[in-house]
Amino acid sequence: MVLFKRQAHLYDFLGKKRSLEKTIGFVPTMGALHEGHLSLIRKSKAENDLTVCTIYVNPAQFNDRKDLEIYPRPIEKDIEMLDTVDCDILFLPLTEEIYPDGLGSLKDFNLGHLEDFLEGASRPGHFKGVANVMHRLLQIVQPDRLYLGQKDFQQVKVIEKIVGGREPKSEVKNPHYFGKSEVVMCPIIRETDGLALSSRNVRLNPEQRKNAAGISRELFFIRDHWNEFELAALKQEAIRHLNSIPEARVDYLEFCDVFSFAPVHSWKQAENIICVTAVKVGEVRLLDNAILNKK
Ligand code: AMP
Repeated sequence: MVLFKRQAHLYDFLGKKRSLEKTIGFVPTMGALHEGHLSLIRKSKAENDLTVCTIYVNPAQFNDRKDLEIYPRPIEKDIEMLDTVDCDILFLPLTEEIYPDGLGSLKDFNLGHLEDFLEGASRPGHFKGVANVMHRLLQIVQPDRLYLGQKDFQQVKVIEKIVGGREPKSEVKNPHYFGKSEVVMCPIIRETDGLALSSRNVRLNPEQRKNAAGISRELFFIRDHWNEFELAALKQEAIRHLNSIPEARVDYLEFCDVFSFAPVHSWKQAENIICVTAVKVGEVRLLDNAILNKK
């Protein structure tokens, strides 16, 4: 694995590979890697000549300072894990490389309703931060394919907008490569009891960890039995069940159109529906979702 800290060096290196017609797969992460991240890297390896992974804990997407401070950063272990899957390139940028004009001058992207809806409503400014870091990373890496986890479904929708060529309102249109990257959404990797893998899971104590599996159990029930209920009644019951998990508090649980991510209020309103939820267990906020099975 080749390690880069300077964006200019990575840019030149990748430019040479691209001129040799090598395809580039890109897996952006914030580190504290687990099997979920590795699954994205494996898929990228299988589908591209070169796979670039970034580890960058993006300060702009943390609305909660404490969350940023305590975010795990086990970089040596991460490098070992990347070696086990034969990742080709690791980019470890410094903040001044990602935000040359400083964190005070973030760009505005038109993210539509995604910006203030669900995750966006709970974490003001979060998706603006995600959009900015992804815009910058895509400028540097210019991948053929971009690998993202369904685990952060709303984030996939936000990044699809960035990749779709929506420029910051203030910037000249030019980046022809944006349209070229294909977004590949990868399935959620789970523990054997169903809990979605997350870098934040290590902050659960053993009791909370055991109870947190109740989130995916509820989602799997919804995924498999939704058509036996009215949507509003199912939503209410699901929230009640989740809130009855010890130390758990539902932040949101919503049914959305998989395509537009608009909320739906009846099963007939969309062809494909996803149930997304955020639940705080103790101090740890956990995200999960399930696309409803077709009947
Ligand atoms: P993060 O390091 O949390 O920013 O995540 C980096 C990428 O890994 C994102 O595209 C996530 O959606 C994805 N990811 C995180 N957890 C999982 C998981 N359990 N299964 C699959 N992908 C995941």
